[in-house]
Amino acid sequence: MIVESQLHPEQAVCRDVLPAGDYYLKEVKKGQTFRILDSEGNQAADTLFYNARNTAEHYSAVDTIREQGNVYLSTGTKLLSDQGNVLLEIVADTCGRHDTLGGACATESNTVRYAIERKCMHACRDSWLLALSEHPELGMDKHDITHNINFFMNVPITEEGGLTFEDGISAPGKYVEMKAHMDILVLISNCPQLNNPCNAYNPTPVELLIWD
Ligand SMILES: [Zn+2]
Repeated sequence: MIVESQLHPEQAVCRDVLPAGDYYLKEVKKGQTFRILDSEGNQAADTLFYNARNTAEHYSAVDTIREQGNVYLSTGTKLLSDQGNVLLEIVADTCGRHDTLGGACATESNTVRYAIERKCMHACRDSWLLALSEHPELGMDKHDITHNINFFMNVPITEEGGLTFEDGISAPGKYVEMKAHMDILVLISNCPQLNNPCNAYNPTPVELLIWD
């Protein structure tokens, strides 16, 4: 559901631009509002959420989908953890659809989906692993890479129950905004994907904003 935010970017306490192919790792405090802005349109922000106080508790696509009875995420969606707790709630959304079934791109899946020559192409999973290896203080490793959300990505389900990767429905300036229900560790890979049409074969920056 399309719902616009009442928050003003000038009042944000934190603003970061994330180039495609890079990662964003930050803590969003309980009660803060977090926005992902699709600066140039049709980008995919591959996102993982954790309880910042206990990173063994993480976002669960299974629990989120089951509890809301809908496979797509938008305004009103409560993003649940694997322990059934609400991590964040989507409170504004001008794109209207976000995927949590397609998973993140990896060198392995790029090889299977596209071509064997894509094996060495930079993928979201690489960016996440780089983030964790550059922040050993978190004590996290590849075991902590689990279900993700692909914000702004259009992955409709076919009548037969399959998944298709379609042209993006986002556009420059579209955003999604979430309110944190607990202290949240956010890990985003701004997708470097050059193989599927979701980002029009043109990876672009996203912007991250936080309000108190
Ligand atoms: Zn990706």
